[in-house]
Amino acid sequence: MIQLSNRLLAMEESATIAMSRKSRELKAQGLDVISLSLGEPDFNTPQFIKDAALKAMENNFTKYMPVPGYDDLRESISKKFRRDNNLSYNSDQIVVSTGAKQSIANVVLTLINPGDEVIIPAPFWVSYIEIVKVAGGIPIIVNAGIEKDFKITGAELDQAVTEKTKLMIFSTPCNPTGSVYSKEELRDLADSIKKHPSLVVLCDEIYEHINFESQHESLAQFKDVYEQVVTVNGVSKAWAMTGWRLGYIGAPKTIASACTKVQGQFTSGTSSITQKAAIAAMEADPSVLKEMISAFKSRRTLVLDALSKMPGIKTNHPGGAFYVFPDCSKYFGTAYKEHKIQNANDLCLYLLEEALVALVTGDAFGDPNCFRISYAASEETLNEAMRRIGSALSKLS
Ligand code: PMP
Ligand code: GLU
Repeated sequence: MIQLSNRLLAMEESATIAMSRKSRELKAQGLDVISLSLGEPDFNTPQFIKDAALKAMENNFTKYMPVPGYDDLRESISKKFRRDNNLSYNSDQIVVSTGAKQSIANVVLTLINPGDEVIIPAPFWVSYIEIVKVAGGIPIIVNAGIEKDFKITGAELDQAVTEKTKLMIFSTPCNPTGSVYSKEELRDLADSIKKHPSLVVLCDEIYEHINFESQHESLAQFKDVYEQVVTVNGVSKAWAMTGWRLGYIGAPKTIASACTKVQGQFTSGTSSITQKAAIAAMEADPSVLKEMISAFKSRRTLVLDALSKMPGIKTNHPGGAFYVFPDCSKYFGTAYKEHKIQNANDLCLYLLEEALVALVTGDAFGDPNCFRISYAASEETLNEAMRRIGSALSKLS
């Protein structure tokens, strides 16, 4: 009998990936399911990036590469950090991995001993919790409700820190809420962070370019906490490169070297071809992303307008990423036919079965009153999805 490890048995399947699998299965059965479950740009990778990959293959960049990434790629990431974020990371502070997901896992594995506490503001991205648990860490959730635009303050962070706290993990722009921390809000967090010199903060900035109303601000810009911050980013979202698998960190040298050590044993680093293609993305002027960002912005308006017409649905005003995270708690206690809605899981299942729209329950992101809509889909698809959701909700009483 195969006995799986306790570590594995304690792990939840990724809810985002599970929901997209489920909708793929239903589609394969011939059902007309609209999937707004996965956070994946519906655009294609720009041609100049694909061309760089083809050239890399022709030039035989097909062998093992340096574990933290090719020197020229890390040099171009270093320039990107300076150009876009005013952050100074030398190449030896940069580690390139197979997606931001692995970057986060590397950092957690290098820092967390069993029993260490990791502060995670909720709502959070699904994988943070499970990665921390695998490392034996204890997730300490700090709830940030919709009335606070799902953001926490320095005072709240202060309150959560104990002598066991090692790390905090958060994203800005945030998956799943789309909330964006302003410079002042990050400064407020930094004031708390600097009071706890052994605290490291992982700031996940993978949605940095998908920001509709303000300039992206990085936590590491504040010199008094720079040595305590790991900046995570990647090419999946801005450059529509989810399948290429490349993420990276800018970090204090000790953490960067430790991540290289972990990665040297686990994966040896990400694909040589992807790395060469990513240089083209890093060196491109981010203004080429304008069209994509403006498409996301009009989709956000479309989804928010439609939701505002649905009684009992409450939203924040998401400034970035491509998600809306509506509060649907007014529907708890309602029913239609055999469907009884007690929580957001029930509502998502109902919307999948009755409206054929796949969403992800807020439970997976640490807020059981909400569900997540990924609006990385065409306006036509979104209009139809919103029509179906509105109609299914109106049947509940
Ligand atoms: N962080 C956040 C907040 C995300 O939404 C995602 C999902 N793509 C990741 C990290 C991981 O991205 P990837 O591994 O594709 O680089
Ligand atoms: N990050 C995306 C999401 O939240 C992609 C899925 C995943 O990596 O978990 O849907």
